Amino acid sequence: MALNVIMLGPPGAGKGTQAERFAARHALPKISTGEMLRDGIKRGLPLALKAKEKIDRGELVDDRTMIGIVRERLSRDDTNAGFVLDGFPRTVFQGRELDAMMEELGKGPLIVIDITVPEEELVRRLAARRVCSTCGMNAEPIGEVASVCRRCGGTFAHRADDDDRVVRERLRVYAEQTKPVVDYYVGRPTFRAVNGAQPPDRVADELEATIVDAARTLVGFALGAQGQAGR
Ligand code: AMP
Repeated sequence: MALNVIMLGPPGAGKGTQAERFAARHALPKISTGEMLRDGIKRGLPLALKAKEKIDRGELVDDRTMIGIVRERLSRDDTNAGFVLDGFPRTVFQGRELDAMMEELGKGPLIVIDITVPEEELVRRLAARRVCSTCGMNAEPIGEVASVCRRCGGTFAHRADDDDRVVRERLRVYAEQTKPVVDYYVGRPTFRAVNGAQPPDRVADELEATIVDAARTLVGFALGAQGQAGR
């Protein structure tokens, strides 16, 4: 069964770090929409350059652009065994479109993880965060500046949109537009919340156990449905 995981949670909750770890551990592609945009800007891609102003201000890029980017990425064969999506959906509209896309691409159900962290902790973490200026990976653990990136050897830098004013705007945008996405998923049997206010290793352990448990729920449903069909 494919592991189709989405990571929800406010900026600074550790979605990127945890998505990266879980994906590597299960040999799944990690799809980070923020990283894709930053990479597109670096490479001078018109769509990403058009989005740059919004990113720099801490606002969301328009739904249509984001849905197009994700649809193209999920259409690739390397997502057949599953994927870990980080940073999408960020609006209820994107959530609905993602459901439609999963159906259309013949993919199984989503496992939805919400990483929760109190706001004061988020502001503290974002002010201290460093990302690799070459490949975009977060310095780990958050707040600790390693000398070079473990993934590509690049150097770490402060993210332009992690400046205090922009951070507050991103948290405001999260509360207004992305928090409702949690409500959109909360009633699903594969929705799980994970406590992100713990050391990264603890979060990773909790996440692993939680996703395995949610995947079991899905297998249970599939077997139940087969049983019903066989009756
Ligand atoms: P992130 O790295 O996920 O914090 O994303 C950085 C910025 O990219 C966000 O503040 C948004 O401006 C933009 N972005 C990333 N993903 C999305 C999305 N799904 N919808 C709209 N904007 C996004």
